[in-house]
Amino acid sequence: MRRNLVAGNWKMNGDATFLSEVKKLKAAHESSTVEILLCPPATLLDRLNAMVGSTFNIGGQDCHPALNGAHTGEISAPMLKDAGASYVILGHSERRQDRGESSFDVCKKAKSALSTELRVVICLGESLQEREAGETLEVISDQLTNSVPDDVNAQTLVIAYEPIWAIGTGKVPTIDQIGEVHNFIRTALIRRFGPEIGEGVRILYGGSVKHTNAAEIFAVPNVDGALVGGASLTTADFSPIITALEDSSPQYLEG
Ligand code: PEP
Repeated sequence: MRRNLVAGNWKMNGDATFLSEVKKLKAAHESSTVEILLCPPATLLDRLNAMVGSTFNIGGQDCHPALNGAHTGEISAPMLKDAGASYVILGHSERRQDRGESSFDVCKKAKSALSTELRVVICLGESLQEREAGETLEVISDQLTNSVPDDVNAQTLVIAYEPIWAIGTGKVPTIDQIGEVHNFIRTALIRRFGPEIGEGVRILYGGSVKHTNAAEIFAVPNVDGALVGGASLTTADFSPIITALEDSSPQYLEG
């Protein structure tokens, strides 16, 4: 069974004062039934690692494809691992847009991360223009094929479906639209990797998830959790989203 996962992407936000928010979050979800991942800026990884214990996993927001070398300002997968990360987010649309990262670049980074024993959260998503042109599934298929390396398994790969037009905008696709894309991704994963891996990979939804819409989104088949940006920055906003996922998880119903 897939263990649901909720990930907070702090983006370029956060300083030492944020650590008090994490303390509150930790107290509220000490023995959570779902996996909780925090992806702070790289400057906070080490400090966060020292305080989260086994309650949360922590992850980077990007890595360079090379393991080390003359790449001023960059951070490598082994550096993230050394700072305590067990995951890295790759191919976020802000990087695809701001840095011109292609799916082939994302795949190279993923190979580097996997070789370092980091798990990867690979982001996919269509623009508004692509959705309105009826190209969503084609775009997702292309990004999935070219961003995800061959040597992944259900533990090492997480997919995040994040429509670009829903990120930070307050706009959310309909439940049917989310369901259509998640089912499409699940089918593509099974076709490429076989049923064991394809059924085991977690597929997160990301884009304006809030406590007010989380439960409805988590009830959609093949939504195994969320990648949360803005609402992951405070305990008041993030904790109810985690609770909504806990409430929707089979482990919770059994427990
Ligand atoms: C994100 O950037 O991954 C994201 C989902 O942001 P937000 O939740 O703020 O839309």
